[in-house]
Amino acid sequence: MNFNNTIELAQSLDQADELKSYREQFIFPQHNGKDTYYFTGNSLGLQPRKAQQYILEELEDWGKYGVEGHFLARRNWFGYHHFLTDKAAKIVGAKAAEVAVMNTLSVNLNLLMVSFYRPVTKRTKIIMEAAAFPSDHYAVQQQVRFHGLNPSEHIILLHPRDGEYCIRTEDILAQIEENKDGLALVMLGGVNYYTGQFFDLQTITEKVHQVGAIAGYDLAHAAGNIVLKLHDWNVDFACWCSYKYLNSGPGGVASIFVHEKHGNNPDLPRFAGWWGNEEKDRFLMKSEFIPATGASGWQQSNAQIFSMAAHLASLELFEAAGMDKLRHKSETLTGYLEQLIHYIPQIKIITPTAPNERGCQLSLIALDRPKDLFKFLQNHGIMTDWREPDVIRVAPVPMYNRFEDCWILAESIKEFYS
Ligand SMILES: *Cc1c(COP(=O)(O)O)cnc(C)c1O
Repeated sequence: MNFNNTIELAQSLDQADELKSYREQFIFPQHNGKDTYYFTGNSLGLQPRKAQQYILEELEDWGKYGVEGHFLARRNWFGYHHFLTDKAAKIVGAKAAEVAVMNTLSVNLNLLMVSFYRPVTKRTKIIMEAAAFPSDHYAVQQQVRFHGLNPSEHIILLHPRDGEYCIRTEDILAQIEENKDGLALVMLGGVNYYTGQFFDLQTITEKVHQVGAIAGYDLAHAAGNIVLKLHDWNVDFACWCSYKYLNSGPGGVASIFVHEKHGNNPDLPRFAGWWGNEEKDRFLMKSEFIPATGASGWQQSNAQIFSMAAHLASLELFEAAGMDKLRHKSETLTGYLEQLIHYIPQIKIITPTAPNERGCQLSLIALDRPKDLFKFLQNHGIMTDWREPDVIRVAPVPMYNRFEDCWILAESIKEFYS
């Protein structure tokens, strides 16, 4: 991109942005009476204005109907997930029946591994990133132990090469090939939370299947950020939370994807609860579990209505804006920020440069006084996030961030070092 670095240019890019009106649908934290420059949508997305209304409506219906709200609420609680699955499925490129909105992320990852990590044959090994999110490490380690195996022998960790921050696809494929006979599962974060690297899930999934193993992904940092095609890529399973790019509030309800080739197999071992039983039999209180077809058959408990109401408010915005348009803006916006920061000698960007290898997040290593820089930004109403030992993550989110925000961020970093 060739541009003159002025605020006027940033503002004219904002003027031309066809998604600019979505910003008004969100509530921004305040700093000295002004909206903050919010770059932490990768960690906790902003509140959609409609979330409050939708949650209040559920409180109202609870008050009005009591238990009968299961069927009489304006959005009946019995089938509440039906208001969400179509919209959630579009975000990850799935069929509606392949998605269930339920529980929270770490819980879902464990539930899915119960079904998809079954080291009963000589296939016992799991490949994952060495720098995976801690919860994913813990879940994978405990699943291995749960089967009486030793994590240090059965988990293979992917490392970047010396002097590099991201993991090369060719190295991932080579690890899969090297372990082809003993490999049970490849479990990666779709977008690594620390570096912002997006893994080539399509190519990796293909290779995983070629050697006869299972491909499952934690999409916490990918859902609502990257255009995903889970069905077409033939991914076996995936899970993601709703409170990062999906803006559905702290601890919000999460989602799972189970490819239809597995979802329609009732014999696949799984943990169960009444909500996973066939819907028509759910209130018949039978003792026999017959899993609903599709991802719904992994549901456990009755719907988390308040959290789902907030999720609905957000999913409506994603449906209206469309992932393709969001992604298109995102590439431009992140590319713009990268260009601005690239010229600051004290900052090193460790996120891949190629747009198809990243989402909107850039991970910055400040070579000089990093913690002070982070605090300086905070004191100037610019919210970024700090990850030990030395990374500042910034995510210009296409749903509500502006080019002007990026310009202010870059200028403030320059001011700090001037
Ligand atoms: C955010 C995140 C989590 C958090 O899990 P919760 O169960 O929602 O607390 C787990 N894994 C990854 C990869 C994440 O990015």
